[in-house]
Amino acid sequence: MISEISASVTAIKTSLDLLRVLGDAKSESEIQAATHGLHRQLTDLQIENLRLAQLLSSQYEEITSLKRELSKADKEKREFERYTEYKTGAGHFIYAVRDSLDNDGTGEPYACPHCYHKGAISFLQALYTDKNDIFHKAKCPSCSNVFRMEKNEDRVTPQTMSDIGKLMGGGSFS
Ligand SMILES: [Zn+2]
Repeated sequence: MISEISASVTAIKTSLDLLRVLGDAKSESEIQAATHGLHRQLTDLQIENLRLAQLLSSQYEEITSLKRELSKADKEKREFERYTEYKTGAGHFIYAVRDSLDNDGTGEPYACPHCYHKGAISFLQALYTDKNDIFHKAKCPSCSNVFRMEKNEDRVTPQTMSDIGKLMGGGSFS
């Protein structure tokens, strides 16, 4: 860039010198030589200007693309910073949106800790909870890891064989 600019400046200086020569020219041959030189300098100048314009345009494109990347990286960073470590009722560490913890759950999804540490936010998807399950479970759709979440409040304690026997009205199995 600097070399292109200085080449342009040199061509302008030489052109101005030639114009001075042209003004002071006494003979026809002097005028012709200066005119010819001036013509050549102007052509050089046009070429240098064209190079500068191309350079500026490619640098402008580069800056635009860098700005885009920067804004994307900024956005991702902000998204990651929204999350904090969270220990589920079952003792598993996962990631949760900070605000959702402060406000007692705003419906924000949890994020997989494995994927989070690999630089991706992957929302955990709830799995079906059976009536006998002690904890609710959630699965990461990206890495397939399963996490135990909160206690299943609707859990039905499995009946003992003796309870089943009583229900059937018969004798005890135990
Ligand atoms: Zn994952």
